[in-house]
Amino acid sequence: MFNLGCKNIRNIGIIAHVDAGKTTLTERILFETGNIRFPGEVHEGTTSSDFSQQERERGISIQSAALTCHWNDFRINIVDTPGHVDFTAEVERTLRVMDGAVAVFCAVHGVQAQSETVWRRARRYSLPVVAYINKMDREGADFDSVLNKIRDRFALPALALQLPLYRDGNFVGAADVIEKKVVFVLEDYGSSLELSVSEQLDLELAHEHLLECLAESDDEVLRCYLNNEAVLAKELIAALRRTVCAGVLIPVFCGSARQTGGVKALLDAVCQYLPSPRVKKAQVDLVISSDELASSSSAACCLVFNVSRESWQGSWIAVRLYSGSISSGSKLKNIRTSELVTVKRVLRLQAAETCEINHAAAGDIVALDIGEADCKTADTLCSEGFISVLEEMSFPEPVVLITFIASTDEHRDLLAQALEKSAVEDPSLRVTANPEGGWTVAGMGAFHLEVLQERIKIQHGNIFSCGIPQVKYKNSILKCAELRKDFVKQLTSEKSLKAGIKISVSPLNKGKGLILDTEILQKELPESYCDAVKQAIDEVVESGVPGGHPLTDIRILVQEVYFDADETSELAFLTVTKLAMEEILDLAVLVELEPVMRLEVSTPQDHVGNVIADLTARQGRVIELDSLALGESRIEALVPLSEMFGYANALRTLSSGRAEFTVEPSSYEVRHESAKLNQ
Ligand code: GDP
Ligand code: MG
Repeated sequence: MFNLGCKNIRNIGIIAHVDAGKTTLTERILFETGNIRFPGEVHEGTTSSDFSQQERERGISIQSAALTCHWNDFRINIVDTPGHVDFTAEVERTLRVMDGAVAVFCAVHGVQAQSETVWRRARRYSLPVVAYINKMDREGADFDSVLNKIRDRFALPALALQLPLYRDGNFVGAADVIEKKVVFVLEDYGSSLELSVSEQLDLELAHEHLLECLAESDDEVLRCYLNNEAVLAKELIAALRRTVCAGVLIPVFCGSARQTGGVKALLDAVCQYLPSPRVKKAQVDLVISSDELASSSSAACCLVFNVSRESWQGSWIAVRLYSGSISSGSKLKNIRTSELVTVKRVLRLQAAETCEINHAAAGDIVALDIGEADCKTADTLCSEGFISVLEEMSFPEPVVLITFIASTDEHRDLLAQALEKSAVEDPSLRVTANPEGGWTVAGMGAFHLEVLQERIKIQHGNIFSCGIPQVKYKNSILKCAELRKDFVKQLTSEKSLKAGIKISVSPLNKGKGLILDTEILQKELPESYCDAVKQAIDEVVESGVPGGHPLTDIRILVQEVYFDADETSELAFLTVTKLAMEEILDLAVLVELEPVMRLEVSTPQDHVGNVIADLTARQGRVIELDSLALGESRIEALVPLSEMFGYANALRTLSSGRAEFTVEPSSYEVRHESAKLNQ
């Protein structure tokens, strides 16, 4: 394989609304770059990136698929991400390790709700973006309208670098605004095309507009523009690259992925306008400077963003290498566990396939075979003696619960292993054993958990049964409280067991989570008693008081402990702490919190009234209402998750199938009284 410098690597994510054509585009990129001989089709279940049986059957992407291809002198590592909201953790961890993104839009539907959500995430990671307006061959495709929507919704200058060409009302190809000539023609329409006079005129105008835009942000272009000097294509491209990398402009391209139209030009754009790993702002703490970071001679430092434990292809972890280099045999320290792991093989990922390479250097994205070593998504691995922790990834909190029970005793171990493996691979799943001998699994939504059940069934058969999905509630408190609790158990007339504790609790602001202050314990108590107190607090925090929910937004402070070394035990401390916790939470007035979702609905204007009335009936609060072009409206609302089950069908009926929506977890809020009554 090629040994390329950082400068010639592009790490890009493909992001979009479900169905905009991400998987199809990825497949055509593989075709154009010679990785596959025949492009597969999503609806036939033959694409490279939707490789699991589930994805092929459902025709949607669930896991991110990492692929590498070569284009001219560049290596492009691409990750095709799932678009469904329940798989946000997949998108999140992908964007974290990318240097840029290709945003794919559907030429008919334009900027759909989901594209905005993903877009916001890309902005959070300061990712420069190039846009590709796909499905230009479809009836109702409207390049200008989508271009305007991108400008409108993303509040960034979006600049067309291509103009679509039509013959007899059909989309046939596109012209390049910089060079002012035809850039591609769809296969069905021959190999070349003459530009009409009006098309030439449109190109002149678009070129002029490009110069004006760039003159605003680039001194060199401004100088030429003011002096009426022609700007060379090379200079324009360089100026565009600077503005796109700075994240202040989105260049827009078009085509039909399905007919492989415009894919080459898009690949050129990725190499020309998106940043190389070197340019990216270092997202690490200050232990290493950014120069050191990008150099492959320094110590190795990489971030794990995916873990695969599929036995048939061997386990591997996918990493982004921020500095140094890794070869087979390298030893790396996992900063979380302090364990040393040995890299058995360095692999290049091709969706379901892997191919062995000897060596990987800073900036690249590769897979590492580290055997069965303990490693999770978001772990940092470094050369020995080199300590740096890469910035954490933030995953949304799971909001839906389901219980798993093994069908027979013999299946218990297998089910436990399958659930554990799923939780390692997917950081947005949380698995906990419940007292009834089953497991409670928390996930991002009902669909997320349905896919999990299906996957375990495919791999192991009918080894479990499941309850119905439930909303994950939590408890918090309304007031501050302080309490001393003593526990005495008379063992004999002379001997008793005693332990006492004084604790206080106070409510924290929304979303703050839990703060535990048990500092006093280390000073006053032997270690085993300390652990007993902490264990009791953890149990109450995780499962709540009997009949309650896990706790959040509370500060818990252990103020004092009372004991006599001869007359106490771990059990005494465990018991007194549990009793104290239950009593103090009652004093502080427990409240129930529920997950509230941020919902976005796009609908034709004539259905707005119905949609809002329905949201109000679901205890929803409308926070924004916008009129968009073409008689469309956009409604943003906060709605309790408990009211959202079945929303897809309800909205379809309300809008005669013309509205669409997207939801994502927003926050935990005090549960609505009337919702309680419906329980
Ligand atoms: P994803 O959900 O973003 O990965 O979208 P897919 O790649 O799965 O595409 C969704 C559907 O749109 C599939 O049926 C594709 O065949 C179809 N599709 C994708 N690109 C094009 C295109 O350029 N033109 C047309 N007409 N259909 C397309
Ligand atoms: Mg897909």
